[in-house]
Order: sequence, then structure tokens, then C-alpha cells
Amino acid sequence: MLTVSHVTKKYGKVVACNDLSFHLDPGSVTVLLGPNGAGKSTIMKSIIGFLRYEGEITVGGHPNKTTDARKLLGYIPEMPSLYPNLTVSEHMEFIARAYRLSGYKERKEELFHRFELTDKQKKFGDELSKGMQQKLNICLGLLPGPQVLLLDEPMIGLDPHAIKELKLLFEEMREQGCTMLVSTHIIDSVDMLWDRTIIMDHGSIRANVTREELEQDGRSLEQLFFDVTEGAGRADGNEAAGEAGALGEEQFGK
Ligand code: ADP
Repeated sequence: MLTVSHVTKKYGKVVACNDLSFHLDPGSVTVLLGPNGAGKSTIMKSIIGFLRYEGEITVGGHPNKTTDARKLLGYIPEMPSLYPNLTVSEHMEFIARAYRLSGYKERKEELFHRFELTDKQKKFGDELSKGMQQKLNICLGLLPGPQVLLLDEPMIGLDPHAIKELKLLFEEMREQGCTMLVSTHIIDSVDMLWDRTIIMDHGSIRANVTREELEQDGRSLEQLFFDVTEGAGRADGNEAAGEAGALGEEQFGK
């Protein structure tokens, strides 16, 4: 459903993403893990079409910057960018018009209910707390019902109720065939249904494994994370990364 093929993104001399390749199956949840600065946001922004890069990205077989791909793609950015002069409700209307959605009101009410924004609908963007802004940010990304959804650090700033709702939504959307890529630097937040995890460090993929592969290996996700980011397989120009363990990228490919 989503294919990233040999994508390299440089900011001046900084190589934020170094020859990344991976594929996401339809109706799957993939967790993109990595320490701060690993390149997670950069690959997300490349997929959504915000950045120029070398390599190829396709969504549902369409190059990512085409209209066909854009119709399938949704993105929930790390930092909400709300309009101070629009109310919570008007933000949703704005998205509905931009995507030419019909019959969205029920969905809007359901999302507001789930993220406890029903009584905040008349508040303006700049009257919302950080957590409320993030909840609205998520509702805006979910309203069009994208087939492929990218979520950049979605749990940051959310209260426990919203985190629970978001995890439930992941499961529901997965059942409906949505493909999700969820980035985080907090391993503890990954205690949810996920099918594949991709671990990045210093702009490269250090592991790309399915849940079954990890279970067979017997290591926890946390162990794998530290083995590939701090163990023998750590980046820092150490290309002899094979000792990171059997679940390193070499064995499981992309
Ligand atoms: P992550 O999301 O994993 O924390 P990022 O993709 O934000 O990582 O950053 C990857 C690398 O690219 C870091 O070294 C970061 O400093 C650099 N970087 C990100 N955005 C920019 C930018 N706009 N200009 C210059 N360097 C950037």
C-alpha cells in the first residue's frame, strides 16, 4: 500500500534519511521507532510530499505527489497548526470543505465525543490547551477517513483517555483496511496492536520486523531497540552493525 524505495533526504550536509526502503501492507499498523533526530519526521514529511528527496515513494501504486496518491493519504503532524480565528467546529468544517466531504457531521460528532471536545466546539484555536490542540489535530486528520495514515508522535500531550481512544481507533481503522505508520520515540507507548516495527537511528533503518518475527526471536521490543541503537549495531559510522542481532535489517530485509 505504501512503498518507500531508496529515499535519501539531506538538509545541507546533514543526511536525515539515508537510502531508506520499506513497504507497508494494506490494513496494517507499523510503528516507526527511533531516538530524537533519527529521521522519523523527515521520512513522514517526505511521504506526505512536503519535502524534496532522492528516491521514489508510491501510495497504492501512485507516485506520492499525484492527486490519486493524495486522495489516499492522511497526515497528523507532530505540532498542531491551528487557526487562531477559527473555532474547533469551524476547523472541522474547513477540512470537510477542503476534502469535499459529504455526510461528515456524524463522523465529526463521533470524533468530538471520543476525544472529549463536544463542549469545546465554540472555542477558538488559541483558546485551547496544548492537549486539546493535539486532540483537535488528531480529529482533523481522521475526519476524511484516509486509506493510508501517517501519525507523527501522536501520543505527545494526550491525556490517558485520549490515548486509550486513539489506540482503539487504530484497531478499528486497521479492521477497516487502513494502513498506518505511527512514529514515536517512547517505546512504552507502543503497547498496542502493531504488525511491524521499523527502528531508525542516524537516518538509517536498523531493524524492520513483524510482531511474529520478534516473538520468535524471544527479545522484547525494548531489548531490540537498545541492541540496534546502543549495542554493537549502533550507527556512528560503525557499519559492522551485524552484531546487533538476528533481527537487524540484514536478516529481515525491508
Ligand atoms: P526525528 O523525527 O526522528 O526526531 P528528524 O527527522 O526531525 O528526526 O531529524 C533528522 C535529522 O535532520 C536531525 O539531525 C535534525 O537535526 C535534522 N533536521 C530536521 N529538520 C531539519 C531542517 N528543517 N533543517 C536542517 N536540519 C533538519
